[in-house]
Amino acid sequence: MIEIRKYRLYPTKEQINLLEETLESCRKTWNFLLARRKDRLDKTKFDQDHIIYLQKQKTPSLRLVYSHVLQNVSDRLDKSFRALFKGIARYPKFKSFGRYDSFTYPDAYNGSVKLGSSTRRTKLYLSKIGYVPVIVHRPSSLGKNKRCTIKREGDKWFAVLENQVSELPGSNVVAPKSSIGLDVGLLSVVATSDGETFKPIVPLKKNLKRFRRLQQSVSRKKKGSKSRRKAVQRVSRLHWKIRSIRSDFNHKLSTQLVRAHDFFALEDLNIKAMLKNHSLARSISDVGWNQLVHMLKYKAEREGKKVVFVSPNYTSTDCSRCGFRKEMPLSVRTFHCERCGFETDRDVNSAIGVLNRGLERVGLERPELKPVESGVQSLNRWEIQPHVESGIEGVESPDLEGGF
Ligand SMILES: [Zn+2]
Repeated sequence: MIEIRKYRLYPTKEQINLLEETLESCRKTWNFLLARRKDRLDKTKFDQDHIIYLQKQKTPSLRLVYSHVLQNVSDRLDKSFRALFKGIARYPKFKSFGRYDSFTYPDAYNGSVKLGSSTRRTKLYLSKIGYVPVIVHRPSSLGKNKRCTIKREGDKWFAVLENQVSELPGSNVVAPKSSIGLDVGLLSVVATSDGETFKPIVPLKKNLKRFRRLQQSVSRKKKGSKSRRKAVQRVSRLHWKIRSIRSDFNHKLSTQLVRAHDFFALEDLNIKAMLKNHSLARSISDVGWNQLVHMLKYKAEREGKKVVFVSPNYTSTDCSRCGFRKEMPLSVRTFHCERCGFETDRDVNSAIGVLNRGLERVGLERPELKPVESGVQSLNRWEIQPHVESGIEGVESPDLEGGF
């Protein structure tokens, strides 16, 4: 189990300069490596680590950065490409000046990072930076220090320490400030335990209809004919458009949720098992729940936030307040508990049930019931402009000329 601690750093002016120079070297390395990937000069992380090594011979400023910190840049880029190929992330972007905000010591246990005695005011040693004052508001369990990421947030600096600690369920969990449970329902994309419901977006539905029509028109055309080739092209263009609408929606929703909460309980859905049920199949594949879960998980974990998966059994039939079980045919959209009188949207009740299970799992109490959990829920509708990506977006003078 990984324990994550985030501490505020109070670097001196000189240290701030060093930290900023390190970020800038990492940013330039990122852009340099990305350009080489794009031009297919390098294919693997191994190639890129070698290129970093060669660049260091030519570039004195790079030698001021701890070597594994630079290698971590190629690691990050490699991860971005793997996420891209899995379809859960967008094409990695070039970073403009000031837009690269963190760097990582990937093997902090080797002495490159050391946390002073765990008194409140102490110093964090960072290789090539020095002893940076830090406030340790909550002591680290001083297990095997795995990684340390230095982050700039506005004009503040933080260190995120990841420690390998032995598994003790519940013992390391600190009550999250804001926890949320999510449920994927039949009509709504996602319901939250806060009572919000994010509905499928209109353009996606419309485009899916068109997609099916186009596919039929392909099958009607003669094989090898010019008109068939054109129809196939139209299908693949539309397919790509649908994928980008969907991933755009999932990106925006996951980012919003991760910003607002720090503990997530999700249904551990065996999507395949559910796909056998034909009526559910359409809606699940439409919303790309799988993709949303991936995005939410990696974005949350990147921020040091916790995601737990719980069994979805009976979440829709059990009252999330008192546990009373009742019949809930799919056509019934409102959950009304005959025992305790609790009433809410069907999917919101499931989402609260999911959250309860998630909190139980890590040994925390059920949350206080929020006022939003009674009465009729207003349905949120997400209107998202179809977002069409063309190659790399957000290229803002990546200053690649001349390498570094
Ligand atoms: Zn009840």
